[in-house]
Amino acid sequence: MKYVRFERNGVPCWGVVKGEDVLTLSRPPYEALDYDGGRLPLCQCRLLAPCEPSKIVCVGKNYAEHAKEMGAEPPGFPVLFLKGVNTLNRPEGAIHAPDFVEQLDYEGELGIVIRRRAKCVKVKDFSDYVLGYTCLNDVTARDVQRHDGQWTRGKSMDGFCPIGPWATDEVESDALKLVTRLNGKIVQQGDTADFITAVPQLLEFISASMTLEPGDVIATGTPAGVGPMIPGDVVEVEIEGIGILKNQVI
Ligand code: MG
Repeated sequence: MKYVRFERNGVPCWGVVKGEDVLTLSRPPYEALDYDGGRLPLCQCRLLAPCEPSKIVCVGKNYAEHAKEMGAEPPGFPVLFLKGVNTLNRPEGAIHAPDFVEQLDYEGELGIVIRRRAKCVKVKDFSDYVLGYTCLNDVTARDVQRHDGQWTRGKSMDGFCPIGPWATDEVESDALKLVTRLNGKIVQQGDTADFITAVPQLLEFISASMTLEPGDVIATGTPAGVGPMIPGDVVEVEIEGIGILKNQVI
């Protein structure tokens, strides 16, 4: 299923993509699907991020090649940080940085949307806790990240986490090809088969320390090729079998 969240009469609503249409739900799809009989053309829906996170948990360096380009050795365990919920942005939503930011980077990533409360999840059970997979851009003010010596401010500016266009359970997480395009040119190419820590182990590692709630998001780390964006640029994160997340920098 492809789960979408969109605005209906100005109110956020969940739905399931069926062909060219969206079948609307009366409540979030975390535990059960409760169709309310509505049907709308997908192309007419103003999509929102397909999640309602209490937190966005991010993995810092999950591809060896990206660790290398950042001048670091691949870590021996998942390095985690959080993005605030103020960073949440929608498909087609504008990315905008404050004027003092000198280097605004894209980071194309696989996102995981959590289905049910997850605490001390075991690897073998991980899929019970996944609503679906989505595309995510871990937008980063790189100069601020470097200046501060830690990542909170550089990673958590308003709108710095576009997610979408939907969350789908129609793919497996272990070998998904990811491409980031800047103004149509490929700038990142990755494959989740190259993750240092795979999705099941990530879920076990994270949930051992913090309870994940329905609608929470995990950003699984970006491949090599991160680089800057400037106003006017269009950035796309495409993941095989999921779709394309497209945003413009203003
Ligand atoms: Mg990242």
